[in-house]
Amino acid sequence: MTASTILYETPAPQVARLVLNRPDARNAQDTRLLYDLNDAFDRAARDDGVKVIVLAASGPHFSSGHDLREGGAIAEQMAPFETVGTWCGFGCAGAEGRMAREKEIYLGLSERWRNIPKPTIAAVQGKCIAGGLMLAWPCDLIVAADDAQFADNTVAMGVGGVEYFAHPWELGPRKAKELLFTSDWLTAQEARALGMVNQVVPAAELEAFVLALAQKIATKPLFALKLAKEAVNAAEDAQGRVQAMGAAFALHQLAHSHNMQVHGMPVDPAGLQVRGKAKTP
Ligand code: ZN
Repeated sequence: MTASTILYETPAPQVARLVLNRPDARNAQDTRLLYDLNDAFDRAARDDGVKVIVLAASGPHFSSGHDLREGGAIAEQMAPFETVGTWCGFGCAGAEGRMAREKEIYLGLSERWRNIPKPTIAAVQGKCIAGGLMLAWPCDLIVAADDAQFADNTVAMGVGGVEYFAHPWELGPRKAKELLFTSDWLTAQEARALGMVNQVVPAAELEAFVLALAQKIATKPLFALKLAKEAVNAAEDAQGRVQAMGAAFALHQLAHSHNMQVHGMPVDPAGLQVRGKAKTP
């Protein structure tokens, strides 16, 4: 058994804290990290003693996004893990196998976490890049350290946005387009002004602030918390969120197929340099 890439902590009664724990890789998401995180979310969701779930990250950065260094065939990458979706077909050639994997571990897992009935809070410090957004956005609340920065640089890599395409709901349509078109950083303060982030606090106070917030929420009746969450989520879904994200996901798969035909890889290699620059602005 490989050690989990996620720490499961109970820092206060009724509060579970899941900590991304690949700091040497800037918490890049390989398949194992995503399934370890899913297991941790399931554990917290199923524990009736837990009311609030915090998602945090060790090290200076929340997450540098998907781990593009993960090699091997898709079927081999997926083989060690028990999948949660039923699309399957990871051994299929071409777009079929790639779409199956991304539908399961990217769109599927992020949507699954978004729909956990209990309140969830993301605590974000440092860089939160592309796939990193797909960990923070599914949480109900986001608290950012004052050094936090957010970016989706996938357009530079020839793709129209990350797989969990929540940008218009998180930022509003106009700023969503700016983020996507430019690959520029969004600061914690800008993200708060747009409503994407709830609170910005000094980096040294992030952990304590989020714990206090979680404890305040945990004093409320869990059933009412679940109902409040369900009602707000239903409002987003009534606006067509699920259908719009499905359309964006299909376009995302088209981009991967196009890049495979033109560049021989699922992303435009020219954009990988932008990605590298983005890590150390
Ligand atoms: Zn993709």
